[in-house]
This record gives sequence, structure tokens and C-alpha cells, in this order.
Amino acid sequence: MKSLYNEKEAKRIAAQYPGVPPELALRVYTSRLLGEDPSLVLHGGGNTSVKICSPDITGEKQEVLFVKGSGIDLAGIEPAGFVGVELEPLRRLAILDSLSDEEMENQLQIHKISARSPNPSVEALLHAFLPHRFIDHTHAEAVLILTAQPGGEGMVKEALGIKAVFLPYCRPGLPLAKAALGAYERNPQAEALVVAGHGIFTLGDEARTAYERMAAFVRRAEGFIRRKTQEREKGGVRREPPVQKKADSFYARLTQTIRGAAAIKTEDGGGRRFYTEVRSEPELIRASLLPEAADLCASGVLTPDHAIRTKNKWAFVSRVEGDDASLKAEIVRVVREYEEEYDRAFAAQAKVRGASWKKLDSNPRVFLVAGAGLITLGFTPREARVAADIAERTVRAKILSRKLGPYEPIAEEHIWDMEYWGPQLKKLDLETRPLLQGQVAVVTGAGGAIGLGIADRLLAAGAAVALGDIAEKSLEKVYALLAGKYGRDRLEKELFDVTRYESVEQAFARISRRLGGIDLLVPNAGIAHVAKVEDLDSEKFRKVIDVNLIGTFHAIKACIPVFRRQGTGGNIVVVSSKNVFDPGASFGAYSASKAGAHQLSKIAALELADLGVRVNLVNPDAIFGDKEVPSKLWELVGPERMKSRGLDPEGLKEYYCQRNLLKVRVTAEHVGNAVVFFASGLTPTTGATLPIDGGIPAAFPR
Ligand code: ZN
Repeated sequence: MKSLYNEKEAKRIAAQYPGVPPELALRVYTSRLLGEDPSLVLHGGGNTSVKICSPDITGEKQEVLFVKGSGIDLAGIEPAGFVGVELEPLRRLAILDSLSDEEMENQLQIHKISARSPNPSVEALLHAFLPHRFIDHTHAEAVLILTAQPGGEGMVKEALGIKAVFLPYCRPGLPLAKAALGAYERNPQAEALVVAGHGIFTLGDEARTAYERMAAFVRRAEGFIRRKTQEREKGGVRREPPVQKKADSFYARLTQTIRGAAAIKTEDGGGRRFYTEVRSEPELIRASLLPEAADLCASGVLTPDHAIRTKNKWAFVSRVEGDDASLKAEIVRVVREYEEEYDRAFAAQAKVRGASWKKLDSNPRVFLVAGAGLITLGFTPREARVAADIAERTVRAKILSRKLGPYEPIAEEHIWDMEYWGPQLKKLDLETRPLLQGQVAVVTGAGGAIGLGIADRLLAAGAAVALGDIAEKSLEKVYALLAGKYGRDRLEKELFDVTRYESVEQAFARISRRLGGIDLLVPNAGIAHVAKVEDLDSEKFRKVIDVNLIGTFHAIKACIPVFRRQGTGGNIVVVSSKNVFDPGASFGAYSASKAGAHQLSKIAALELADLGVRVNLVNPDAIFGDKEVPSKLWELVGPERMKSRGLDPEGLKEYYCQRNLLKVRVTAEHVGNAVVFFASGLTPTTGATLPIDGGIPAAFPR
């Protein structure tokens, strides 16, 4: 690790925050330097602090500890990511023998200098007890590799020298803060504290000193590991065997099966589904094929902070050969075994402590799959990515560690303590559970007005959405609009052609590889052609049939194997048309194609009920869209209708509004709401048609 400290850059950042004390601005700068290095911290891990003397509201000087807010990412931290806490009252807590989680949290809350600031880091007391102005804390891999060796203490001393003080593992909170204070008092010359199985704290009176000490100690640890492993490899470095890149369909089959096997059924008949993340770098594939791959999965996290993201142990899938049924049987076996072991260990740990822990789900979060690499799970795509980032680094670190000697992590009970530690659990969002969280939706024809309305409502309801269209420009436009509103975390886009089966199949494989599978399919792609039967050109008619009928057929057909592998049911909501029941002249091609798709969907409802898949239809009418994303259908038929009725665009909309029973203007969002309703599974409904038209008697479903 090289020091990246740069005076100019430090000044530039300080200048960005004129109202902020210069020490805090520097604290922001070096915290970001630490956060940007994934070998030091990942996703909200690590914490930093600075002590500043500043006047309170009455002008009286007081010492304030600015410590990182809990769970905040160091890489992008802002001054507001630090919580100011009165230092003196916290320091006094060092005389206590014990402090409950609730009381520690209470003490940190009541001494904050701003009620609006976030919760202070779970390691705030340690930062308060030590006298140094700047304290930097990371979970540096090189240091963790050393402490995970038998005789780790000796290695730390040899590698880092006497200015780094070694501490055996100790739980964060008051115990670790007191142990750190004691170690410092015995070694006042200490520049760093190394906590076995946890990480390293560097100390300094300047921002630059604390940061550069981190860089220096980590560099020494890295150098030590390099030397030792090179000595051991003197006999010649093994050439790594080449690995073959696998197709999207290979990974899609795995993610669909894994996510299906891991889905949680709840007592109310509902359930929770996971999103997945695949990591298939050659190095990870090689790791999955090592004789010790199972051991890599069973040997536990590098630092207990990771347990809430990856769980301590991972699942290992050793065989992926054979057909879908045998793959499923194998993965279900692995998941069930994992769950049983987790439940057994949980019960034993809770019993020993007499603790009233509320068990989290027993599912693995990380799968190492032979020949494939890593597949991770999360209740949101972001959680799956975080688990994957941690798992990827952990695999590499463990492999390196094993070149040094046996990998010996800290005792398992410490990890359980941290997985179920109240302040740690607060970092997980266990409460917010939007209606469609966990679901992956695919909307075809997403570049149009109705597609946009549907995707918008699905994202608002918590689903992840893959937008599909053949028209790149419209697709990009809708993607940009939705990304601006909901972010990119739950949003994907795929260019594909519904009239070609392979194109649909490949798109679904890519979507599955990225998100895990498909739970909701919305065949919505459609085109129109206006001509009386007498004038209807066969080719043009065929084109409409191709997109509206065959396209719907392709999407449904390609989704069936996905539903089958997942085994968790699903929904298909077909965007049909009011025209199916109430057709209009000159609309033969459109109405006939939509009627065909309508009938096909009902057949699918009959055939897919066994899989728990519901097929329903929505019949919108007169959706115009807006200026930004107009309805293509209305761009086509609007001008002629305006002309024949002598109306302007507003007048035409008003005309359609007055035509329905409820006298409402129907919007694409209304259609989206209907799709959300079907996808929620709140009623046991299949084969049904829901009109979204304000009430048109001639189009009542029958
Ligand atoms: Zn830590």
C-alpha cells in the first residue's frame, strides 16, 4: 500500500468546505483515501475520527469527537457523515466494568452535538478513550492474513515492529475500547493497535500522520507476506491452468436454480426472494476448482464485520453437471444442509448465552460453485453486490493466507456475537420491505409510453426491472428517465427482438445472470397498422401479427424454463387491448393480433397453473403518454382521428375522457398499478382480464 496523501489535494478538499473546521475537512480527505482502497475497507467498513476543540452555543470551549456515522462508506464520505459527540462524558465511561448495548447507544445519542446527525460508529468509544487527535481504523487484509495464522502475534511483531501493539480479539464496544486504552497506557509510544481477527487502528496527531502510519504498517505486512510466500514457492511457481469462459445461459441456469432453492416461504403463504450477483473472474473459477474449495467456504469471515453481509460460512456446490432436475436436486440439498447447520449452531450459541436472539433467515449468502465462481444473494441487488465484493476479496485473501500457513480465524462464537450484536444489526435494513421487493420484472416494449408507466410503478413498488425494446433510442430515453428517478441499482436494459425466439431467450439469460431470474413477465411490445380489410396489405398484416402475437408467444415460452428452474411460481401480465372486446374499423391487423395474444394467454393460464404461475391480462384504452415519451399507437392514429372529429390534441384527449363511464383520463401509470396488483399475488387470480379504460360498456370482459 502506497501513501496517496497529496498536500494540494488536501487543500483543494478543505477549500470545498469553507464553513467546516480545517481538521474535519482533512479528516474527510484521508478518510476517503482509506475508503477508496478495497484492500483496507469494503462497503461501510472501517471508521475514522478527529478531536476538535470548538465552542458550544454559549461560546464555552469544549472538546468534540467527530467520528464516522455507523455504516457510512468512507470512500464517499462528506463532513455530514461524521457525528460530533461531546468527548468528556464519553471518556468517563472508561471507569465502567460493563455497559449494555442499549446504554452504550443511549450514551452516544445523548451526547451528540447535533440531533440530526447519524448514529455514531459502533467503535466510537475506542476513538473517545484514546488521546490521539486522529485515529484511522481499517480491516486491512494484509494485517488480517497475519493474525489468522497460528502464531499470528509473533508474525505481527516480526512484520510490523514494536510500534504496532498486538491485542487478542475482543468484541467492539466497551470491552475493545478499554482493552485499547490499556494497551496504549502500557505502550505510550504505540503508533498502531492490531486487533486479531478484526483489523488495525493507526494513531497520530495530524491527519497525514495517522494515514501514513496506516499506509506504512499495511505496506510492511504486505511485504512480509510477499517475502514469506516467495520463499515457500522457491521450488517454482505453479502455472495456473487456463479456464474457459462460460455462456450467459450457463450462469442463468445456476442463478435461477440457486435463487429458487434459497427463496424463503413465509407462514402467511407469501415469501421472500433474493437477487443474485455473479463473479466469474478466471481466478475465482480456479479457486472453485481447488481441492480445498469446500474448506475455503467453511473457514469463516476475515473480520466479524463481514458476517452481516456474507454470513460466516458459505455454501459449496461441487457438481453442476447433468440436467435441470439433477442440478436442482443438488442445489436444494446444499441449501437445506446449510440451513440445518445454521439453525443447529444458532440454537447452541443462543442457549450458551441464554440470549433472546431473534433468528435471522438461515440462508447462505455466498455460493462457491465448482467451475463457475461466486454467486451471492441479497434482498436487494445492492446487498448481493456488497456480499460479492466481500466474498471476492475474501477468496483471494484466504488463498494467499494458505500459502503462508494454515488459515486459522478467530473462534466462531465471536462471529455469532457480532452477527447478532444489536448495533451491528442496525446496519441492516430489516424493516423496510416494499411490496414487490425481491421480484425481477421484465417489461417488453419498454421504450413506449405504457412500458414506461408500468416500469415506473414496478420500481416504485420495490421490484427490480429489466426494460426490453428493439428501438435503442427510445429504450435509452426511458432508461435515463427511470434511472434519474430510482437510481440504477434495480434497473437493467436489454435490446432484443421479440419476433426472434433466440433473441428473447438470450436476453432472458443475460437478465438472469445479472439479477437472478424472472418473476414477472409483462409482454407489452406492440405495433399498429391502420387499414380497412379491403386495403390491408398481407405483409403489413404479417408484421403486426409477428410482433403482437408471435412476440407475446416468444416471451411467454422463453420464460417457462426460468419459472420451472426457480420453482417459486410467478406472474405473467399481458398488455392486451380494449379492442379485443370492442374493436374498431380499420384496426383489423391490431385487433386480430391482440385477440390472438389474448387467447394464447388464457391457454398459458391453464397450462402454467401447475407451476404456480398466474397469467392475467390488462386492457388499456386511450393512453396518450406525454410529450417526452408519447404513445406510438396514438402518434399513428391520433392525427387522422383529430381530423375526422375536428379536434386539436387536447380536444382529442378530452373526447376520450368524456367517452368512458367514469369520465377520467386514463394514464400509463394506471396500467402500471394494475400490473403491480397482479404481481403482488394478493388475490388467487389467473386467466382474468382487468380493463383500464375508465369504463367502456362495450368492452366489459366476457
Ligand atoms: Zn472494525
